[in-house]
Amino acid sequence: QAVVHWFKMDLRLHDNRSLWLASQKAQEAGVPLICLYVLSPEDLEAHLRAPIRVDFMLRTLEILKRDLEALGIPLWIETYEVDELRREARLVKIFAEGDEKMVAEVVHDTCVVMPGALKSGSGGQYAVYSPWYRAWIKHVEENPDCLEIYEKPLPNPPSTKSKYAHLFTCPIPPAPENKNLPDNDETKARYRALWPAGEHEALKRLHKFCDENIGKYAERRDIPSVEGGTSKLSVHFASGTLSARTAIRAARDRNNTKRLNGGNEGIQRWISEVAWREFYRHVLVGWPYVCMNKPFKPLYSNITWSYNPTHFHAWTSGQTGYPIIDAAMRQVLSTGFMPNRLRMIVASFLAKDLLIDWRMGERYFMEHLIDGDFASNNGGWGFAASVGVDPQPYFRVFNPLLQSEKFDEGGEYIRRWVEELRDLEGGKLGGKGGWIHDPYGREGRK
Ligand code: FAD
Repeated sequence: QAVVHWFKMDLRLHDNRSLWLASQKAQEAGVPLICLYVLSPEDLEAHLRAPIRVDFMLRTLEILKRDLEALGIPLWIETYEVDELRREARLVKIFAEGDEKMVAEVVHDTCVVMPGALKSGSGGQYAVYSPWYRAWIKHVEENPDCLEIYEKPLPNPPSTKSKYAHLFTCPIPPAPENKNLPDNDETKARYRALWPAGEHEALKRLHKFCDENIGKYAERRDIPSVEGGTSKLSVHFASGTLSARTAIRAARDRNNTKRLNGGNEGIQRWISEVAWREFYRHVLVGWPYVCMNKPFKPLYSNITWSYNPTHFHAWTSGQTGYPIIDAAMRQVLSTGFMPNRLRMIVASFLAKDLLIDWRMGERYFMEHLIDGDFASNNGGWGFAASVGVDPQPYFRVFNPLLQSEKFDEGGEYIRRWVEELRDLEGGKLGGKGGWIHDPYGREGRK
């Protein structure tokens, strides 16, 4: 007899609600806790997981396995060539038909507030962020257990080590075949240095950001040349190496109000951004058809998008001739990351200037981002292409030249990524330094 915890997108020991509950159950029943992770190459492919994201996950599993072993808990990794939905359906069937000795429990743990818990005035899911966020704050403040942190699991009895010795020998599988895999040691080493894996790194990054940078977040979050302007924690949220509870709580506890709102503007703003991630998850549960390649607004299902492969290739390779777009697209190719402001600018450019189907961009992002996350990516593309939950979509077009001038006036970000413009100085459009934003004089200058 044993209690089994099945890791999904919760690759951490600290503040893992389901793991903690499993540990409690095992202790009460006097049986060992065993952990399981199922790697499905077919699912990774179906979900367009970027190879660097898969590499991050495998590195995280190694750390997880080591930390669990220190508590006498084995982590068994199974590689399973079948799609997720069929696997889960089969499991539910086995448990439904099984005897009483087999009990399964599903524990939700990716959001601070469970999807479905917040109802709008008409009793449904909110489709607009601001009222949803007010309801979210109210709910969290009225239910302090939302931010209750869960301890690590308790150690297994020492006898587990000999009784389940074979489970401790399970190796970390190699990365599944993928034609886009970082294919040489130099590239792999570079990505690994950029994105150290595991929950210890996530907590270190969180506390460093909260100690040094969160207070200035409101002013600096949109300036891509500023190091530390944002937390770069998205890969950890997406992989579950950091829980949203821990993050929100760390930020809240540094606020002099000790609350989610009021007090320091940077802290308030950062909490509201972490909540955006949660909002898009609630939207997904409220309108599941958005998972099926359909826009949130059904009205926009029939748009005939243009498709020009030369334009699409120019966009993906950072060769559009718009420096701010090219810098951002080259950054993602080189690092697997792009700051939020740039994601909005390049997404708007693809959908509203090149008139290419936003779903091609959505797919490209998933295949290349280290933090690729279906809900946030789909929500971001829906917003930028105006087919999503944005209540005022019709006039929102990001002008790449004005955005460049506004958020990278000195041209530091462009110079970092667009080699051929490294000798240009920065400045305002229309002035001498404006060429860095507009090298072809599109604003009318000759
Ligand atoms: P910070 O500014 O430090 O914010 C903290 C956390 O809040 C982030 O780590 C993230 O989890 C969350 N967050 C911040 N902004 C947003 C937002 N606009 N929407 C949802 N969550 C947010 N985020 C992903 O995690 N995965 C994606 O695949 C993804 N695709 C996107 C695609 C588009 C077109 C757009 C416009 C946005 C996308 N985002 C995505 C949201 C956002 O750009 C990133 O979460 C953010 O840039 C990550 O950087 P950070 O960790 O430094 O963020």
